[in-house]
Amino acid sequence: MKKTLFKFGIRNKLILSVLLIALLPLAFLGWQAVNDQKKVIREEVYRSHTDLSNMLAYGIYQNLEFTRCLLSAIAELEVIKSLNSSVAEDFFKSLIRQFPSFKLIYLVNSKKQIIASTDSNVQLSQNWSFSGVAKRSYAGSLSDVLSTPDGNSYINHEVLIKSNEKGMIGVLIAEVDLNYIRDLLRDALRNSKFEGMVVTNEGFVIARSGTSTASIGYTETQNKDTTEIRDIAGTNFLRSRVSMKKFNFYQAPDWDIVLQIPEKVAFQAADDLKDRIIRMVFITALIAVLLAILIANSFISPLLNLILGARRISTGDFDHSVKPSSTDEIGELTKTFDEMRVNLKSTRADLDYRIMQLSTLFEVGKAISSVLDFVQLQNMILEIVVKVMRAEKGSLMLLDESEKMLTIGVAFGLSDEVMKDTRVGLGEEVSGWVLETGQPLFVEDVENDFAFMAIKKSGVSRGTMMSVPLKAKDKLLGVLNLSRSVPKSFVQKDFELFKNLANQAAIAIENARLYRYAVTDEMTKVYNHRYFQQRLDEELQRADRYDSQVSLIMLDVDHFKRFNDTYGHPEGDRVLKTVSKLIEKSVREVDIVARYGGEEFVVICPEKDGEGAIIPANRIRTTIEGYDFRINGERVQITVSLGISNYPAQARSKPELISFADIALYFSKEAGRNRASLFNPTMKSEEAIKNKKKKDAH
Ligand code: GH3
Ligand code: MG
Ligand code: MG
Repeated sequence: MKKTLFKFGIRNKLILSVLLIALLPLAFLGWQAVNDQKKVIREEVYRSHTDLSNMLAYGIYQNLEFTRCLLSAIAELEVIKSLNSSVAEDFFKSLIRQFPSFKLIYLVNSKKQIIASTDSNVQLSQNWSFSGVAKRSYAGSLSDVLSTPDGNSYINHEVLIKSNEKGMIGVLIAEVDLNYIRDLLRDALRNSKFEGMVVTNEGFVIARSGTSTASIGYTETQNKDTTEIRDIAGTNFLRSRVSMKKFNFYQAPDWDIVLQIPEKVAFQAADDLKDRIIRMVFITALIAVLLAILIANSFISPLLNLILGARRISTGDFDHSVKPSSTDEIGELTKTFDEMRVNLKSTRADLDYRIMQLSTLFEVGKAISSVLDFVQLQNMILEIVVKVMRAEKGSLMLLDESEKMLTIGVAFGLSDEVMKDTRVGLGEEVSGWVLETGQPLFVEDVENDFAFMAIKKSGVSRGTMMSVPLKAKDKLLGVLNLSRSVPKSFVQKDFELFKNLANQAAIAIENARLYRYAVTDEMTKVYNHRYFQQRLDEELQRADRYDSQVSLIMLDVDHFKRFNDTYGHPEGDRVLKTVSKLIEKSVREVDIVARYGGEEFVVICPEKDGEGAIIPANRIRTTIEGYDFRINGERVQITVSLGISNYPAQARSKPELISFADIALYFSKEAGRNRASLFNPTMKSEEAIKNKKKKDAH
């Protein structure tokens, strides 16, 4: 089966439907699940970010606060207030030893002189002022974050030293290392996928944990927590900021803790889910397609089977049976279709048979209706019927009306003795029974048919037989019989055909009979004058057409008037009957014998010249002359005189041909009777003969 049979057939439609049904909800739910998960993850990330940031921020703030409080406490010590350089220096050194985050501690007096320091090289910067310190002290006593050349950041804590009497007398300054913030950050983010940093409000990074935080994009100045998705060098990050300012608006530094995680990392689980869903969609699609193909095939192969069968049948092949390959609706359809095929097949066989019957009947009708010769017709009828019906034996029996007996006209497969000897009376044997009842008889099996056994019969011992009366317009003409030696080898259909054939045959026989009646002379049974005229016309035409010739013999019984007078008219009639038989016996099959009128006969001899016709003429003459006519046991001599003429050698027309034969006949009479003469122009004309006849009569 060609693949291109159906462009968008059941298979493709089914695949598409199953795909849509299976994949649409899955894809939709999957997409929703992934989105939901992303949302949950995002919220979770921001929440844990904020928790962690808050913790970190608080830690840093606490640390700074501790330092600030410690320094404030020191600034209130009397020994510091007294600005005693050596004591202060000792104290500072022991402090640095105890608190490693203190890098440097020094004391400035009111004249901006460093009077005690843990590092003798330290100097105040140019723009350092007491008012600056006072301002910074108000905002938490922290200077800006600074960084050493090796990248470590630090910050200065400044504490004003005041005495009750003199007011501000100096400043205690401690440089505090901020590396602990970095350590804090790294500790907090160890084993975490987050990256973090601590950044000042001017964008200075105090500490960072990872590498991706390079682009801070510091824009916010609002001292509050925020979350955002930030694009850093083409990668999206989930980022949250927590401001330290919220712990203490005045004392806490204006720093933010920033935590971020690449969206991809955060959404790993969602992406995994997405991958799983996509894989599932693919597998489902695959299964769906396979399933659809399987289901489609279970539809299509029985359908194709059906379509193939339908195609074969559409081309007239009714023998191709379509077997259902499934028990479903298609199987049922296929079964019904095959039943239809079988019905169609038998219907067509019936039709074929019917057509054969009709054409046979037509042919038979045509053939036999053209045959008017009775014997020829009977032969033809039986020959055709036996051939058409494929019979082994057959006979055509005709009814002799006068004797009420059936005799075999023609037979096939029967011995000559049977043919000659068979004479069946009405009601006798099968044929007599059929003729008497007028009913056609069909015996499928002669050995097992009770109705048949009831008929008195002989000859038929086994097999099958059919016997049909030959009826024309309710007139019984005879019986037609057929038989075969194998029982039931004829079926009802054959019987129907046989009956129809018999009807045709009966009509043909009746026609031939009527025709014979119309063209035959009733007494002598030879053709009548009318037929002679008609036939002579035809023969002359034929001679013209084939450039051939026709001879005509005309004969007249000698002194017949005298015979009648002597023996009486009935005896005369008997003689005429015998004479006509003797004439027929003396000529060829093709010659046409007719009664011309009274005791005059004619014989048309096609394709015979005048000389040639003398032979049959003389044969007629001698046959009659030699025939032993007896009346009351006494032999009576009968002779005839004959005249012969020929067309076209002598006569140029039909009247001339008849006239010349008549002249020749008269010549024979004149010459002494009982003779045959061929016309020749020296013979007396017809007119002369007539005149002579008239004279003789007088
Ligand atoms: P010829 O030898 O000259 O022919 O003498 P003929 O007596 O036969 O003369 P013709 O032919 O003139 O006579 C015809 C006679 O034949 C007249 C008639 O009595 C007789 N005839 C004609 N038709 C029939 C018929 O059908 N039956 C009988 N019995 N006689 C017939
Ligand atoms: Mg005559
Ligand atoms: Mg005569």
